[in-house]
Amino acid sequence: MANEQLLILIKPDGIRRSLTGNILDKLSQLRMTIIGAKVVKVSRELAEMHYYQLKGRPFFDELLDYIQGKIYGESWNKILAFVYQGEDAISKTRKVTGVTNPEEADPISIRGAYGRITTKGVYENVIHCSSDSLEAEREIKLWFKPQEIVKDIYAIKRIIVDKEEKVVWDL
Ligand code: UDP
Ligand code: MG
Repeated sequence: MANEQLLILIKPDGIRRSLTGNILDKLSQLRMTIIGAKVVKVSRELAEMHYYQLKGRPFFDELLDYIQGKIYGESWNKILAFVYQGEDAISKTRKVTGVTNPEEADPISIRGAYGRITTKGVYENVIHCSSDSLEAEREIKLWFKPQEIVKDIYAIKRIIVDKEEKVVWDL
């Protein structure tokens, strides 16, 4: 068993429908530990970088609008981002999350219980989680700065910007 970390996002539909408590409750049963957490207003750039592998797919623009919470208006254009760590954290989380399509997901999984497909065909599936450790590393480094995580998980380096020392990921 490997000690792993991964990025988990509660997407704007999860926030809007007050599902944060339900989702965190299901995740807490996996006995992982939270090592980073914050609320984020997602920029277009961050959305594109996060979903870069899906560029060119027919639903890409709607997906960017969705993860930015644009379709719900000002009050809901935010997500909650977490870094969780634990033994086999990725496969355990993917299991309670359920498959991508909420209609095919196990009804007692998070996506099966709370997800829906929009009239435009986007899977509003309330949660994102990294699918393997390489993706997890890329995503955690994209969403979090080293000092926002309470454990040393990846190599860092110190650089000088405007005469001040900064700690950044050693990419
Ligand atoms: N997605 C969609 N339609 C698809 C495939 C993906 O709307 O046919 C959306 C969905 O919100 C999904 C996200 O794009 O969660 C990222 O897709 P991915 O294949 O990485 O699925 P995930 O890893 O989230 O299960
Ligand atoms: Mg994915």
